[in-house]
Amino acid sequence: MTNLKLSDVTKRYSDVVAVDDMNLDVEEGEFISLIGPSGCGKSTTLETISGLTKPTDGRIEIAGEDVTDAPPKDRNIAMVFQNIALFPHMTVRENMTFGLRLKHYEEAEIEDRLQQAADILQIDGMLDRMPDELSGGQRQRVAIGRAIVMDPEVFLMDEPLANLDAKLRVHMRTELQRLQQTLDVTTVYVTHDQAEAMTMSDRIAIINQGELQQFAPPLECYNEPANRFVAGFIGSPSMRFVDGEVDEGTFHAAELDLHVDVSQGSATQLPTRLTLGIRPEDVHLAANRPADAGTTPATLTVDVVQPMGDELVVYLHGTDRDVLGGDEASNGETSQLLMTTDPNANLEPGQTVDVVLDREQIHLFDPSTGEALVHGLPEQTDAAVAPGDRGESTP
Ligand code: ADP
Repeated sequence: MTNLKLSDVTKRYSDVVAVDDMNLDVEEGEFISLIGPSGCGKSTTLETISGLTKPTDGRIEIAGEDVTDAPPKDRNIAMVFQNIALFPHMTVRENMTFGLRLKHYEEAEIEDRLQQAADILQIDGMLDRMPDELSGGQRQRVAIGRAIVMDPEVFLMDEPLANLDAKLRVHMRTELQRLQQTLDVTTVYVTHDQAEAMTMSDRIAIINQGELQQFAPPLECYNEPANRFVAGFIGSPSMRFVDGEVDEGTFHAAELDLHVDVSQGSATQLPTRLTLGIRPEDVHLAANRPADAGTTPATLTVDVVQPMGDELVVYLHGTDRDVLGGDEASNGETSQLLMTTDPNANLEPGQTVDVVLDREQIHLFDPSTGEALVHGLPEQTDAAVAPGDRGESTP
């Protein structure tokens, strides 16, 4: 059942369109993340749901009720922010029950809800402490507890883990996941951290310049990105793109000396100019994959090698170009591939390597619109390329 619905929501600030015609349908109990680069409109979208900002256009429904013009207090939502705004002069107990007292709940009900939330968050031993006696993680737990006790229809969280250190973030991420499994409350979570969004969400809404790019389960966004923006945004290290032209069913990218048979795998006619996308984990040293028929070979030059411990990240470019100082920007994004490989691979800058691209993981995009055209080319076995087997007559 739809629990939260945004229909054609737009928010303009004079000439800035912060949110552009946003449509989202969030199911009851679903955890969704709004993700995108800084300034893309994530917080503004959340603010329109909370009622802190009124949309210029569009409609917002919570639990079937039109709340577009309702003030925040009438929306049955609870919010957790990046800046943990606990009242410094109140104990944890007082902080957590403040909202309930404002709404004149019975004392027994307040105590019940407090205990339940404290149990779930494992903070029952800290109820009489002051906020400055708590660690950052504990303070954030109290802030979440303050939201839980309100038993809202929808949780709204704006980068709640952003101010925690890296280790605690990962820990709190797991806690939030567990909490969601326990409470099953519809949650809208804003983050710029794609790992956070990927791991916690049922679906992620990827936004760019106020426009929704894709709203789908994390793996669908990863495996079938709707466009080049999503493809480059989801995944780390990110997908690389190569511009090229198609001639008689073969894609050529001059700078990388890359030739890919694209004659099969698309239901529709491909344009003559294409952008090919491939993730670093789908580029392999040919030596590690002998005679693999489902691949596309290329000979490339190693530009930069980055040891990450568990793998090597290798920047590659075409063999007909000089090694340029290793600065990614100077090479241009579309003239490089990235490969992640065995950490013990003995690779040096300037060296030439034979690599293969996993054909089933090649994505093709329309270079003019960025729209994805093909996700995964069919394996190219000898039989598959034999004209007779394609049902064509041999000339
Ligand atoms: P995000 O949360 O994704 O970083 P925001 O929603 O905060 O992005 O901002 C989206 C755009 O709207 C940005 O260009 C920002 O500068 C603009 N914006 C946000 N709030 C205001 C405001 N109160 N007045 C004018 N412009 C704003």
